[in-house]
Amino acid sequence: MTRQDFTGKHVTVAGLGVSGVPAARVLRDLGAEVTVVNDGDDERARAQAADLAALGVTVRLGDGDTLPEGTELIVTAPGWKPDKPLFQAAAAAGVPVWGDVELAWQLRDPDKAAPWLAVTGTNGKTTTVQMLASILRAAGLRTAAVGNIGVSLLDVVLGDEPYDVLAVELSSYQLHWAPSVRAHSAAVLNLAPDHLDWHGSMAAYAADKGRIYEGNQVACVYNAADPATEDLVREADVEEGCRAIGFTLGTPGPSQLGIVDGILVDRAFVPNRHKQAQELAEVSDVTPAAPHNIANALAAAALARAFGVEPAAVRDGLRAFRPDAHRIAHVADVDGVRYVDDSKATNTHAAQASLAAYEPIVWIAGGLAKGATFDDLVVASAKRLRGAVLIGADRALIAEALRRHAPDVPVVDLDRTDTGAMAAAVREAARLARPGDTVLMAPACASMDMFVNYNARGDAFAAAVRELASGSEGSAQVSQRSNEH
Ligand code: ADP
Repeated sequence: MTRQDFTGKHVTVAGLGVSGVPAARVLRDLGAEVTVVNDGDDERARAQAADLAALGVTVRLGDGDTLPEGTELIVTAPGWKPDKPLFQAAAAAGVPVWGDVELAWQLRDPDKAAPWLAVTGTNGKTTTVQMLASILRAAGLRTAAVGNIGVSLLDVVLGDEPYDVLAVELSSYQLHWAPSVRAHSAAVLNLAPDHLDWHGSMAAYAADKGRIYEGNQVACVYNAADPATEDLVREADVEEGCRAIGFTLGTPGPSQLGIVDGILVDRAFVPNRHKQAQELAEVSDVTPAAPHNIANALAAAALARAFGVEPAAVRDGLRAFRPDAHRIAHVADVDGVRYVDDSKATNTHAAQASLAAYEPIVWIAGGLAKGATFDDLVVASAKRLRGAVLIGADRALIAEALRRHAPDVPVVDLDRTDTGAMAAAVREAARLARPGDTVLMAPACASMDMFVNYNARGDAFAAAVRELASGSEGSAQVSQRSNEH
């Protein structure tokens, strides 16, 4: 569809909110007849509805399930579940449903549409997309990290700023509602059960992630350690000549990127991949140099190389990159113990990755489990644990897993959820730790039982560590850089 095709078209926008309000405005600007439907009918929704009504948008509050008469297209907030009656009615009436990403894709200016390098996966998306943008910038390309990452794709495709290429983070929800997006190249970083209540099953979740490979032109990048990602490449329908490129923390085979003697090397985008390997960067160029983060760097490098970026720019871009806060951030060393904030580890897959990066560990964990089980995580990490301090609503689930699989690991079960609980947890962790150990707050759970969000949880941890440092009689060194490994 072109922008002109929206004139007079009856479009229903499903959901007021971060994506719905801007979508309604843009569609109205293009001359569409827009109706917004929203489940909620609270004060905030009414205020938003009044603003939109002033633009000529019809808003129906308190009923997000009935398909408005005459609807020709639905543009939905990505979080709306596919089994909602609204979508069933749309399917019965043959009305297409797009998410915010599909809308942005359709509205690209055909004369200056920047290609997309796209990233999805259960964990590591934001980090990888930011690494990729850093590499592309180092190569002198005009780019932005966009998508499920704060910067709206709609703003970028409609704005005046010219881009050579975009680094796009896509969530499984966004992919579900993006039937025609075609990336230049794309990566699926990993696949672990998450959001299954939304997708309905692991197979449906994987299929939505796999959509990112559909129609790729140059490379489908997969994780060689996670065969499910390679399966998705095999199932994808891609452009003629598009290649499957693996990344591995081991020695790379032909058509892979990997690690040899502490060096990131490329055996994919070289003239003779059977005989040649191109050095890209050193492992120490990646911050933090934890295994899962090296994997993220390899995926970012693969996408950049698929776009033709030179090796030196991969190195420079990785060196310039610093992760966002609360992702394996080194807070301080106190009495020879390292304190690390990985509050963003909100599921077991993420926590397992950061637990694999240190040894021995005093682990601070707990919060809202979101239906997760902890047996696999504890089995994989038990050998590294000096002790564990558990906080939050679902801590008993972790305590039971520890009892089952790591009965010798001392566990402190903190039966409190007040504002001082994190400080108490840090004090208990300090008591269990010995010099050389790492106290790692990688909760494997969501934070909302005790904190506003994972940022607040990480801040509480950092404040508690600083308090510990100020009271310490031994040596305390507060990290100057936020993300030293
Ligand atoms: P996302 O955008 O997918 O949520 P982030 O880059 O924000 O991912 O990282 C979230 C958390 O996931 C990090 O704090 C870290 O614990 C973990 N993580 C990052 N990269 C990986 C990876 N490749 N594999 C497993 N866990 C990871």
